[in-house]
Amino acid sequence: MIPLTGIGYDVHRFCAGRPLVLGGVEIPSEMGLDGHSDADVLCHAIADAVLGAVGEKDIGHHFPNTDASLRGISSLELLRRVMVIIKSHGARLLNIDSSLIAEAPKVGPHVEAMRVRLGEVLGLPPARIGVKATTNESMGFVGRKEGIAALAVATVLIPDA
Ligand code: MG
Repeated sequence: MIPLTGIGYDVHRFCAGRPLVLGGVEIPSEMGLDGHSDADVLCHAIADAVLGAVGEKDIGHHFPNTDASLRGISSLELLRRVMVIIKSHGARLLNIDSSLIAEAPKVGPHVEAMRVRLGEVLGLPPARIGVKATTNESMGFVGRKEGIAALAVATVLIPDA
């Protein structure tokens, strides 16, 4: 078995009238995020990192926004399906690290709940799931509160080719 790492990035635009779900946790906010699924930008970045670690195509390939059955789906369910994909490679997920980049709302108080929720789906203890949060210092689209971005890395153990 050898360790391999993947990277993921995602961004979603704020919109009114939807709940804000980050890392599988609903967070009190005037604005939610727009998207075909529940628009959980953190879960999407993690999904791409995990898929990338085993050499799979990205989340948009596996779960296209043209698939009506995925409308409004919980992104935790997408992560569950990603775990099935990586197990088909004989891979075991070792850890995740991630950063949320958001000017508002404050996500820090919800980070521990996210780590627990993500761990349940990813089969990892919270200590193996990093969720960090930063602002963009009022610069760019994040700084103008147009949306939220997320970055993630994942490391897996996978049979050497
Ligand atoms: Mg996305």
